Amino acid sequence: VIYTFGSAAQKARFLPPILASEEWWAQGYSEPGAGSDLAGLKTRAVRHGDHYVVTGQKIWTSYVQWADWMFCLVRTSEESRPQQGISFLLIDMTSPGVTVRPIKTMDGCHHVNEVFLDEVRVPVENIVGEEGKGWSYAKFLLSNERILSAETGRSMRQLGHLKALVAGTPSDSVVDRAGFDRRIVQMELKLHALRAFCLAYARSMDPSQPPGVEASIMKIRGSELQQQISEATLDWLGSAAIAYDPADVHGEQATSPVGPADASGAIREYLHGRASTIYGGSNEIQRNIISKAELGL
Ligand SMILES: Cc1cc2nc3c(=O)[nH]c(=O)nc-3n(C[C@H](O)[C@H](O)[C@H](O)COP(=O)(O)OP(=O)(O)OC[C@H]3O[C@@H](n4cnc5c(N)ncnc54)[C@H](O)[C@@H]3O)c2cc1C
Repeated sequence: VIYTFGSAAQKARFLPPILASEEWWAQGYSEPGAGSDLAGLKTRAVRHGDHYVVTGQKIWTSYVQWADWMFCLVRTSEESRPQQGISFLLIDMTSPGVTVRPIKTMDGCHHVNEVFLDEVRVPVENIVGEEGKGWSYAKFLLSNERILSAETGRSMRQLGHLKALVAGTPSDSVVDRAGFDRRIVQMELKLHALRAFCLAYARSMDPSQPPGVEASIMKIRGSELQQQISEATLDWLGSAAIAYDPADVHGEQATSPVGPADASGAIREYLHGRASTIYGGSNEIQRNIISKAELGL
């Protein structure tokens, strides 16, 4: 968004540290009452001289506990259609009035947070593009995010892990071995088809245009495959998958893996994978986007 819509000063200030991984960013879109219905967001930014004063709450903000900056959707006007009163602000996470509260997810890890903004002063030069046009920048970002969420590389690695397990570790829970092999083949075919689709799209895409419904198709297919692979892995591992210490994956403390080494992390993949059909815009919403754009429904 900064690269495409930012000012020259914003590009000079923010892009080099992003490229060098010296500054980390979080996405402040969702709010307690505004997820799928994002245009209903209520965090307000009121202009006072050369600052906006921002008050409101964000939720599900991934990895903001490590972020230096948060790009944030805020309401700068109540007067027009909800989408037209939204602006895109860059907020320094060290600003007075910013509070981060962790949310522990069911995999036992700390991926997401609540962010409370209490009269946070943000310089007006930190608005991206035009005031009130934040909705179109936000949609541009989301469609690019969905392309990434196909995550075919990750799924190939997970499927490779499953195939190695099946080849080397007997299962105490799978009785229909031929049926299980068919399941693996079906997932592998779907994965190759998705990868071919992504590569063909990457070859033909016009970087000056926001991605089309292809992004929604990739998001649906990619997230469903991730879930299918992690489910199959648990089915194969059976009771061996149950033992899980979040620290052995995240290195939060020095422990040795609990349970068999080749089962380590499988339950985490499964539990965290439940979220992949929700984040980046839920799969139901992606189906709505496709049906509206392609079928005119
Ligand atoms: C792990 C994780 C990380 C996240 N990271 C971030 C982040 O970094 N930044 C950020 O801003 N947000 C983040 N999110 C939030 C995410 O974008 C929202 O959870 C998502 O958009 C859904 O919104 P919601 O949770 O409010 O659910 P709701 O919008 O309340 O939806 C609840 C259910 O209703 C369905 N639904 C809603 N409306 C419709 C409709 N019109 N038609 C059909 N079905 C519908 C949804 O599909 C869903 O199943 C994250 C979420 C998760 C789980």
